[in-house]
Amino acid sequence: MNKRTKIALLSLPALLCFALIGLSACSHTHSYEVSATKAATCTEEGMTAYTCTGCGESYSETLPALGHDYVGGACARCGLAEIPEGYSVGLDYELLSNGSYALVGIGNFAGEALVLSPSYRGAAVTEIGEGALSGSAIVSAVLPDSVRTIGKNAFSGCASLSSVTLPQSLASLGESAFANCSALEEIALPDTLTSLGEGSFRFAALRELSLPHGVQEIPAELVAWSRIERLFLPASVEKVGADAFQGCGGTLQNVYFAGTEAMWKDIEGLYMSGLFSSVTVHFEADALP
Ligand SMILES: [Zn+2]
Ligand SMILES: [Zn+2]
Repeated sequence: MNKRTKIALLSLPALLCFALIGLSACSHTHSYEVSATKAATCTEEGMTAYTCTGCGESYSETLPALGHDYVGGACARCGLAEIPEGYSVGLDYELLSNGSYALVGIGNFAGEALVLSPSYRGAAVTEIGEGALSGSAIVSAVLPDSVRTIGKNAFSGCASLSSVTLPQSLASLGESAFANCSALEEIALPDTLTSLGEGSFRFAALRELSLPHGVQEIPAELVAWSRIERLFLPASVEKVGADAFQGCGGTLQNVYFAGTEAMWKDIEGLYMSGLFSSVTVHFEADALP
């Protein structure tokens, strides 16, 4: 049988239909029944397929993913935890407009050693919000590299806080972020940090501090009334805010500056910074000795 004959034969019923009862009666009202289902899960779409019992034609509908249903720290449906294993739980978070999360409060976390999760409900934790942990009783804090911003007063008045590990991605430290942290004697600032807020370490117990390479402006009251003894300043510093070193006359003895003496003399605001003339400035220093 050649191809043309085959087509003619196949279309014969249709032709008969036209001839005998007209077009409208040939297309029947489909009678659909569910032929297959796949339930939606928290993260995956589901599907329902329908097939006509008369002609076998079928179609399918997509069921949207359900999303997690968090109750008491885990999804009631699939069991996924809000916080990955090994990180502190009970803290308060807030969803930001960019889809990431900010830590905004101590919540019911009662531990001494805070280890912040890099993610919450599957999204990155990118901020420590304004005043988030202010006045809390934490002794140590380890912050993940997902965090880029630490807000104003985030840790201020944490009187027991003696150890802080800052994110290696930190770009901005807010005003008074560690002010009045009276047990905080040391902190390492990452090189990504170029923006420091006023009084970030005011009344903290810091004994030494190295400002990251790239910092151009030392904010007002940066280490005012701290116990700072030794300070490293990068060659990028061009300006010092008022009272940056106010109240440090009794302890501050040595400043290690990466630039030359001429560059030092060009720094704007140096004489309003509270730096005593008894302080020894070491020029072209690489780091704190
Ligand atoms: Zn049908
Ligand atoms: Zn779930």
